[in-house]
Amino acid sequence: MQKALPKAETPKKAAPKTSEKQGNGAARAQNEKQDAPQKQQKQPKQGAKQQAGKQQAPKQQAPKQAAKQPAAPKTAAAKQAPKAPKKPSRGGKKAPVVVGATIELSEPGKARQAAEARQDAAKQQGRRRKGQKEQRKTPVRVIPLGGLLEVGKNVTVYECMDDMFLVDCGMTFPDENMLGVDLVLPDFTYVMKNRDKVRGIVITHGHEDHIGALAYFLKQLNVPVYATRLTLGLIENKLREHGLYGKVKLVQIAPQETIKLGCFEVEFIRVNHSIPDAVALAIHTPAGVIIQTGDFKIDYTPIIGDIIDLARFGELGGKGVLALLSDSTNAERPGFTPTEVTVAESFDKLFKQAEHKRIIVATFSSNIHRMQLVCEAAAKYGRKVAVSGRSMVNTVLVSTELGYLKPPEGVMIDIDDINRYRPEDVVLITTGSQGEPMSALSRMASGDHRKVSVTANDFIIISANPIPGNEKTVGRVVNDLMRLGADVIYERMYEVHVSGHACQEELKIMLALTKPKFFFPVHGEYKQLKRHAGLALAMGIPPENIFIGENGHVFELDGVSVKTGEIVPSGRILVDGLGVGDVGSIVLRDRKHLGEDGLIVVVTTIDGTNGQIVAGPDIISRGFVYVREAEDMLAEARTVAKQTIEGCTKKHVSDWGNLKTQVRDSLSSYFYSRTKRSPMILPVIQEV
Ligand SMILES: [Zn+2]
Ligand SMILES: [Zn+2]
Repeated sequence: MQKALPKAETPKKAAPKTSEKQGNGAARAQNEKQDAPQKQQKQPKQGAKQQAGKQQAPKQQAPKQAAKQPAAPKTAAAKQAPKAPKKPSRGGKKAPVVVGATIELSEPGKARQAAEARQDAAKQQGRRRKGQKEQRKTPVRVIPLGGLLEVGKNVTVYECMDDMFLVDCGMTFPDENMLGVDLVLPDFTYVMKNRDKVRGIVITHGHEDHIGALAYFLKQLNVPVYATRLTLGLIENKLREHGLYGKVKLVQIAPQETIKLGCFEVEFIRVNHSIPDAVALAIHTPAGVIIQTGDFKIDYTPIIGDIIDLARFGELGGKGVLALLSDSTNAERPGFTPTEVTVAESFDKLFKQAEHKRIIVATFSSNIHRMQLVCEAAAKYGRKVAVSGRSMVNTVLVSTELGYLKPPEGVMIDIDDINRYRPEDVVLITTGSQGEPMSALSRMASGDHRKVSVTANDFIIISANPIPGNEKTVGRVVNDLMRLGADVIYERMYEVHVSGHACQEELKIMLALTKPKFFFPVHGEYKQLKRHAGLALAMGIPPENIFIGENGHVFELDGVSVKTGEIVPSGRILVDGLGVGDVGSIVLRDRKHLGEDGLIVVVTTIDGTNGQIVAGPDIISRGFVYVREAEDMLAEARTVAKQTIEGCTKKHVSDWGNLKTQVRDSLSSYFYSRTKRSPMILPVIQEV
């Protein structure tokens, strides 16, 4: 941003400075008696308006003209409107002609002044563009179906005329309220409604929050998938699991290439991330160029692959970028994300420190950079490397086969062979860095891993930070491992982990290079999106050009403005076992109910001809009370149920539904009065 602005700003920038000098006294004077001048404001403003009107062409192209001849409005304003403070800059509509030059006069903070000046310049630039050549173009619709105000299930739909394509197709893991749910998918209703338009899916990189829903989507709509080599390798694995391998068209792309998807042209730009082969997209649309960064960071010394192609982002920025959708994951963190090389240095130290112990490194199963570092450190210290955890074994296979992971000759061994080596000659890489209950590390911690038992002779490095929400589970695993006597290195004790996402300074570099007209922070919770928006604001993007979106909210860009307001379906589809979408809010409510208060089943056999009880009622309870200590209460409950049924028989209630409801109600109030609990009650009636 900064680089280009001066060009546009030059005449303007000079203006505020001079007028500042002239006007500071006035501003101060005004501050002393704030009230009165505020009221008088209108007059000077009008004065300026008239003046400007007189000086300039009647056609109200004020900002443009003013920028061209800054001297005129400056003097006019300085003389006529020394006290016109901030108002004009905000209520732009009412008095658009008052020139920016005098506006900052009474603004106090310098930083704010500068920021506003930059924003103003950007606005001016915008107006000028509008005036000169910018006309509304064929609108493009950008629709995030996931990934906003949440972490995970990233999907963005691009739609223009009769063409549509998706960027990423991710899933997310269930939160603690989704009992028994395995994973959560985005809602594709809108895409399926437009299935004839869909030209393909473009994937930025191989993380689960970007490819996890792909197989589920492709089962509903088989369209080509475009991705880089490693990403495709990981996708192929997923398709195999779902029996789709060979049935889907997979197209390998590479950075600097461009593909055509209907009226869109999608260009791939190399970025750095915690998984190799990640790309950003420059989407050339009829309305202008939209850049979607995907997940990225700037690493000048990546372990695998090349450095992010900053030059290309700058080139596009120079030509004009309509919109930027940028990764907000680390928008709260100041500074730069350290390079992966810092982890290499830490590993070196720790491997030395571990001496005669076995080393176990836990990390994300997709972090191939980290695995490469472990292999190199192992080779240096004469150790062999084995891999534990299914997803990790998969990643190692794919990435070695494709040549991304290059373990030194002879370093890798099978996990079944570890006992043939002395502990000090082995490094084990494992999943479970987030304390996931079923992961290899968790099982080692609880002593039920089939091949590895942890002892005081283990040196364990957790090479990942807990994802927010996972701190407790990670803590539990660390406690258990330490109790077994192992040394555990975790969190920030050493630099054993660096993030894969850009921190604030890197986000600013991206904004500065691409200089977008409109900015959309994406990939994050609200607080992260908001912080990212704040960075853009500070860099001079006008607030009205920054949009914090929501899943399902449509943005329509026509090159000049952004239309909002339309909403498409964007819920979450829950997957439990083989069922996709069959677990909804009612099922979840029941599961929660069962989990909190338990279950009572009342079984009664009734003679269908006269309504008399033949057997029962019998009461079975699960998760409600400990039966042996509550026999009296359950006997009494049986009596309550019996009386209720007999009462119904007397009243000739023959509708079983009605009878069940009455049994449920009477038992419910009985149990509540005795226990203050509300178990789920299931009356079962057998008719003979
Ligand atoms: Zn990622
Ligand atoms: Zn992501």
